[in-house]
Amino acid sequence: MSRVKTYSQDPMVGPVMEDTIEISKIGRRLEGPRVEVWDQEVMKASADGQGNYLYGPENRKFDQVQAFVSSQKTLDLFEGYAQRSLPWAFEGETLGVGPHAGEGANAYYQRSYGALSFYYFDSKALGRRVQTSQSADVVSHETGHAILDGLKPEFGRTFDRETKAYHEAFGDCAAMLLTLSRPANREAILAETGGDLRKENCLSRMGEEFGYAVRRMNKDPRDDRDYLRTHLNDFRYINPDTLPADGPRETLSGESHSFCQVWTRAFYDTLAGLFEKSGDLGKAGEVGGNLLTLGTHMVSPTRARYSQLAGAMLRADQLLYGGENSAVLRQAFDKAGIECVQEAVPDFNWSQPPADLAEAQPLLDQLGPGGFQAQRILKDGHGFTVIEGIQSEIVRCGDGKASEVAQGMSLTFDSSGRLIHKVVDDPSPHSEAIGMNDEMTRSPSGLPATWQSLRQLGDGTTLVARLPVFID
Ligand SMILES: [Zn+2]
Repeated sequence: MSRVKTYSQDPMVGPVMEDTIEISKIGRRLEGPRVEVWDQEVMKASADGQGNYLYGPENRKFDQVQAFVSSQKTLDLFEGYAQRSLPWAFEGETLGVGPHAGEGANAYYQRSYGALSFYYFDSKALGRRVQTSQSADVVSHETGHAILDGLKPEFGRTFDRETKAYHEAFGDCAAMLLTLSRPANREAILAETGGDLRKENCLSRMGEEFGYAVRRMNKDPRDDRDYLRTHLNDFRYINPDTLPADGPRETLSGESHSFCQVWTRAFYDTLAGLFEKSGDLGKAGEVGGNLLTLGTHMVSPTRARYSQLAGAMLRADQLLYGGENSAVLRQAFDKAGIECVQEAVPDFNWSQPPADLAEAQPLLDQLGPGGFQAQRILKDGHGFTVIEGIQSEIVRCGDGKASEVAQGMSLTFDSSGRLIHKVVDDPSPHSEAIGMNDEMTRSPSGLPATWQSLRQLGDGTTLVARLPVFID
């Protein structure tokens, strides 16, 4: 094992601590088979004679180690939940991590570069430079985007508000799960709350240092909070298409970092409920991570709907735990106003597992409404097989713009070949149009473009596509 020095949560939460990581994952120059540091500003850290990376935060190589370890450990967690190696959405096996991407108050994942970029900025309020790669919360959130992009690549291509919000929510869930996986954080949570997770703590607060600094960059003292987002919020689900595109931080809007809070509230309450049941924060994280990961595998390949995700997590609980956590899940989703939707599952067993997409196609034709092309077969490490089908059409969204709107279907089978879950989504062209309008009218200054014009259609309409870019 390699010994490393990192913050186990966020620079504003606790001191630098020693941790360990497999040498086979971190290598001698922060280069592993799945994650690798890229840095144009600072020479790359190298391991000492014993394979350790023991830099302190005054050394910029510390940021490289912090970003590497937070990202790799987030991937390890999700590969543990899925019981398999998880793919990236881009070519190649290795996610690039750029801890010093330049000046700015942001961090993002970009599929086209297969990389995470972390920016830095000087905070007047803190009297120091905020380096976003130093926060395990922020790095884990961005790694969560990369993991979800590998699991459901079409989620990155739709303008749909709820799907974009789920991407943000998944990132925050990843940060919560990384937090819970570390003993020092579990101790800090218990010390701060006395075991009552309805009190604010480092699990409920997302992005402490980053949030503290950016919330003090405006002149509104009511916005001053010691975090970017809190999962102890009161937001309840309503159709995001009916909300304003954006709004003040303390209100719910259709903007993805705002609307994600409905899901993260429910997930936080799930973790709190699991902790109440077992009295073990580490176990709560493990169970919550397993349910989230299998649930996400089982939903539509093209669109995230909180109600379908909630239904899939309940199904995952039946499959993995015999349904013993269903009351916890139902209560958490209910409080957040999220319905748990499960489609009726026809009684069906395959005669033999499909070897390829051609063999999977008849299953989609027989068990769905027809027209879906088999796209992928996901084999979860627990023995579940998810077959995904997609059909798409070009939809005019008004204002001379059009987008290719994909409709998805997924079928999940257990190891004996029994159909256990089915989702056919609603293509929601109306939601696509609303989400497209959000991005076209948002000022893109300083941010990477999130969409591009593809070509002119015959009637003068421009076909527009969303680029899989995700911003903090
Ligand atoms: Zn994000």
